[in-house]
Amino acid sequence: MKLSSPMDVWKYLPGTNCRECGEKTCLAFASLLLDRKRNLSECPLLSDPKYADKGKKLQELLAPEVHEVEIGVGANAMVIGGEDVLHRHELTFFNRTALVYDVWDTMDEDDLRARVREIAGWRKFYVGEFLKLDGIAVRAVSGDLQRYRACVKYVSEETDLPLVLCSFEPETLEVGLKEVSDRKPLLYAANESNWRELLRMAKQYHVPVTLSSPDLDMLTRMALTFSQAGLEDLVLDPRTYPAGEGLKGSFERFIKLRRAAIGDGNRAVAHPLLAVPMTAWMVHDDALYASYWEAMIACLFIIRYADIMIMHSIEPHALITERTLVDNIYTDPRRPVSVEPGIREIGNPDPESPLFVTTNFALTYYTVESDITSNKIDSYLMVVDTEGLGVESAVAGGQLTADLIKDTLERYEADKKVKHKTMIIPGLAARMSGETEDVTGWTVLVGPRDSGRIPGWMKDNWPPEKVA
Ligand code: SF4
Repeated sequence: MKLSSPMDVWKYLPGTNCRECGEKTCLAFASLLLDRKRNLSECPLLSDPKYADKGKKLQELLAPEVHEVEIGVGANAMVIGGEDVLHRHELTFFNRTALVYDVWDTMDEDDLRARVREIAGWRKFYVGEFLKLDGIAVRAVSGDLQRYRACVKYVSEETDLPLVLCSFEPETLEVGLKEVSDRKPLLYAANESNWRELLRMAKQYHVPVTLSSPDLDMLTRMALTFSQAGLEDLVLDPRTYPAGEGLKGSFERFIKLRRAAIGDGNRAVAHPLLAVPMTAWMVHDDALYASYWEAMIACLFIIRYADIMIMHSIEPHALITERTLVDNIYTDPRRPVSVEPGIREIGNPDPESPLFVTTNFALTYYTVESDITSNKIDSYLMVVDTEGLGVESAVAGGQLTADLIKDTLERYEADKKVKHKTMIIPGLAARMSGETEDVTGWTVLVGPRDSGRIPGWMKDNWPPEKVA
């Protein structure tokens, strides 16, 4: 994307503030375009011949540096690529690394279906949302066309998740593709031997295709050939070697490709990148060790610069590590992860129950909420809007103040929920206890610095004499 401020974008909009896009001004729409929350097609005036040139230019200028590729259809479709920066703090990353887990065509049908269900049903609650996995890679290993066809069919019957069809044999891929061509699977992969056949298939079935080679010149030539044939839904696989110099070389190729795409503006390689951390299983016999190394390699390429990865281990230690890291890298650094302010009821509180105070930084909130809930403490938890900052930073930066606590108490009518007019502030906010008492007129108790210690603190401090 070559525009960096809403004003830059606004210059190309009609500027009539007609509100047909649903926004009050063109500038507001410009700001949302920049954040990719709205599309150009939502401004109907841009289709007017009077504004068509501006619209075309804007489309060009707003296009991400790395092409976006959609895999799958419907609500579960995943979009990969679409990045504009090399480092998250320069703006934000837009589309998180998609995590795809393998099945293979020598699996017994019951085992196959059970594994697909396990991958598709995996959930992990983390900072206010359920993390999920993104897709299934169906590998052909039997050499039997009908077996592969059946395997793809069984997988497609079990899940709507996007699919990656994996074979270097065009005939095998096509047999699988015919089963699920309407689901827009990703083909893996074209190489220097089979690319003509895969080019034909990608065109004929309108599906995205992976180009695979450790030779970056070869990869670039293939990408140019496919682009010139009208195919832009490309994914590049510069090959993932699992150890030693091979792994180092893979890591360097990922960095070179992404720097060429974003730093040097080389459109030929401006496509999403695919890593295959499951190559760890080729060099380690011990399952625990292989899955550990697979997770290590995955983490390496989540950070630099895989847009999609094919993996094998679905052990919790691997999944939680990989998926949590993806979530952390792909949050928007411009907006702290936060929750809504307010007063939450935990358990079955009554007017004598304690009222805890915390901030709206999501990680702080869910930690405190979880510590109180798991210890079955019927209570109220008052969440103050600290612009998404944790307690210590908010106190230091002035986002958690006595005045703000007073506003929150009043806005959410705390005095109608508890009759003791006592609040428990976090230990990390101890220094504002006196001022908070003066400003709010409530009694302030200073809780522990760590919410995990709330149960012990409660034994010694609740109810306070005045309440009891
Ligand atoms: S529809 Fe277009 S011209 Fe009208 S306010 Fe929105 S952006 Fe501006």
